Amino acid sequence: MRRVAIVGAGIGGLTTAIGLQHAGWDVTVFERSGANTQAGAGLSLFGNAWRALDSLGVGDAVREIAGREQHTRAGQRRRDGRWLAVTPPHALRELRVVHRADLHRAFTAELRPGTVTYGKGIDRTPEGFDLVVAADGLRSRTRASWPGDPGLRYSGYTSWRAVTTRPVDLRDEAGESLGRGERVGLAPLPDGRVYWFGVASMPAGTRFDDEYAEVRRRFDGWHSPVAEVLDAIDPAALVRTDIFDLARPLATFARGTTVLLGDAAHAMTPDLGQGAAMAIEDAATLTHLLGSSPVDEALRAYDVVRRRRTQAVARRARAMGRLLQSRGPLRDLVLRLTPPAAVARQLAALQAWRAPGDRSDLAELQLPGSGIEKPEAGRPV
Ligand SMILES: Cc1cc2nc3c(=O)[nH]c(=O)nc-3n(C[C@H](O)[C@H](O)[C@H](O)COP(=O)(O)OP(=O)(O)OC[C@H]3O[C@@H](n4cnc5c(N)ncnc54)[C@H](O)[C@@H]3O)c2cc1C
Repeated sequence: MRRVAIVGAGIGGLTTAIGLQHAGWDVTVFERSGANTQAGAGLSLFGNAWRALDSLGVGDAVREIAGREQHTRAGQRRRDGRWLAVTPPHALRELRVVHRADLHRAFTAELRPGTVTYGKGIDRTPEGFDLVVAADGLRSRTRASWPGDPGLRYSGYTSWRAVTTRPVDLRDEAGESLGRGERVGLAPLPDGRVYWFGVASMPAGTRFDDEYAEVRRRFDGWHSPVAEVLDAIDPAALVRTDIFDLARPLATFARGTTVLLGDAAHAMTPDLGQGAAMAIEDAATLTHLLGSSPVDEALRAYDVVRRRRTQAVARRARAMGRLLQSRGPLRDLVLRLTPPAAVARQLAALQAWRAPGDRSDLAELQLPGSGIEKPEAGRPV
């Protein structure tokens, strides 16, 4: 039986473990932290993530914890609540918002007991395995030990995230609201609780004595129901994260029998809500390729296909972040004047992941009324 070591039990590590264990590999996952340490925030998963989860055989199990699809009015608003742009509903293939802790529980339940060793940090590439998957996140030690690691780049903005402790009525409206160098995001969870995030431009490492008080000071005056949502947040559960991405695209994701996956390979800013989806796509692609080719060939193919796709998405995420954080009137004009068909086309490209070689359901990706043609197989966004 082929043996794989996976470093990191985040979204990328766990989905890879599921894919390879189902495919008959002997899987060992090493995780530095203890079990159940997932921060209490939400995660948006778009159609491409669901397609990749289906390909890994866990789509329906995860749908059970994710609840129904989002059909709320979504897009970008001003801080006073006036809509700048409404996302064309048909452009969102399958958008569901999940609680990260629920997602980790669902993934772990798919693995044989004992697959993950918690409290075990890995400092150098483990030996005695046919394959090592480094899914050790933004600050990957594996990537740092490779020649040409570009390091990280601060985006210029920080974030706060939380899930409310009780349901809050969003009146069927969700998405992002934009101020001057500040943003708020609202998304409903299946049980009526709300995933909330705030973003603000400031130097990296800025800290406040009372982070919750800072959030209230910045966002209380925004449109309803932002203050109501903030009332329903447990201040102790607020997660603060400075936003970084890779300073430059990596030249390769694979070296010998070691491969980088997820944020370790292509950390991106969260402005398109695609980082976790890309990690799941990586896992599904790698599983698929290893099912039909020897390890060295599979890693070569993975490197080519995944660098092309993820580096294009990372570029676009950064550009979107720059636009949304900009302070001038030009931003609102751009958002108001972008034709819905162009937005739909971009979203279709983002959501167009397929397993390598799978062309069976291209017709499904055509969006009625959006002017979208069949995407070419493997075309980067
Ligand atoms: C504010 C914010 C909002 C986001 N929103 C979304 C969203 O809505 N949708 C979306 O798709 N993505 C979103 N993302 C991105 C998403 O969170 C990441 O892309 C995703 O979690 C990456 O998963 P990963 O498994 O690659 O890395 P991680 O989740 O970081 O997991 C890495 C794991 O490796 C472990 N580890 C690290 N070093 C070692 C070591 N030496 N030995 C052993 N274990 C180690 C860590 O403890 C961790 O558990 C968001 C990110 C941020 C910051």
